[in-house]
Amino acid sequence: MGTIAAMLSEFEIIARYFDRAHAPDGVVKLGVGDDCALLALPPGQTLAVSTDMLVEGRHFFAGADPENLGHKALAVNLSDLAAMGAKPMAFTLALALPSADESWLAGFAQGLFKLADVEGIRLVGGDTTRGPLNLCITVMGSVTEDQALRRDTAKSGDDLWVSGTLGDARLALEALQGKITLPDQLMSLAEERLHRPTPRCALGMALRGIAHAAVDVSDGLLGDLGHILARSQLGADIHATSLPPGLALAQQPADRQLEFMLNGGDDYELCFTAPPEQRDAVLSAAASANTSVTRIGSLKSDKGIQILDAAGNALPFTSHSFDHFGKEL
Ligand code: ADP
Ligand code: MG
Repeated sequence: MGTIAAMLSEFEIIARYFDRAHAPDGVVKLGVGDDCALLALPPGQTLAVSTDMLVEGRHFFAGADPENLGHKALAVNLSDLAAMGAKPMAFTLALALPSADESWLAGFAQGLFKLADVEGIRLVGGDTTRGPLNLCITVMGSVTEDQALRRDTAKSGDDLWVSGTLGDARLALEALQGKITLPDQLMSLAEERLHRPTPRCALGMALRGIAHAAVDVSDGLLGDLGHILARSQLGADIHATSLPPGLALAQQPADRQLEFMLNGGDDYELCFTAPPEQRDAVLSAAASANTSVTRIGSLKSDKGIQILDAAGNALPFTSHSFDHFGKEL
């Protein structure tokens, strides 16, 4: 049974790739290795918790680069903390692996910890099992209850904002699926957005006390904005010409730009609302977080979303937000 003897055990995998020695600090009192991690919340703070799973064949292609997967598995979770305005504290990792492939594990751990170190979040536990490749992360962060950027607290008359740019991830996906052909240089720009999204944690934290509501754009702007509108019982006008296309998408025909910005998915930008009096504060928060923001419309008490052209006329447009149990796109 030479091949099995050469394989790492579950505990060797954890020890070699996921148990990094850390001195206890104000947040993590006990990390990987015991039955539970022990975490402390700063006084007066509330725990923000979120889970996101990446499944092979569903969220990424078989054979996907492990370093990108490590980055993306954590990035999509950090994006939820960002959208709540929470400060990243700790995360757990539940991993199902078809085999103990050391080069895969090394790449995955590298992508994962590189982002973890940038955002100051610590891996404090998890579960490791054999099975079809499946990556499930739970993130924990802290925010005061009154400053959390909820979905149900937008106000009529708020400006509508979005961070960064939209649509390049969808463009890369369609190119990988063979539906669109892109020149190499644009393809690498777009693929970077699809495989290595940047969670907007600094922006989310900087918007505390300024924004009324926020959501991260994972399933497409219209669908995700729809969650704020449904929870806050409001509608929105979006100015099509204000939407910020990704660098690669900006080279595409106008109708494709609009479709991918509104219904793209996998952008991991923040969509947030703030009162018009806070415009300067929003721009300062964005500058302090080194993240661009664009004002794309406003909220109103009439339900529904209207997409307006440059002349202010409504464009016919429907939301095709992604739903895992909805019909296939
Ligand atoms: P239990 O038997 O309590 O489920 P395990 O034997 O599964 O514990 O795990 C041993 C320790 O390693 C625990 O502290 C657990 O949180 C941690 N752990 C397991 N898998 C991972 C992983 N993929 N990343 C980080 N920590 C992990
Ligand atoms: Mg276990």
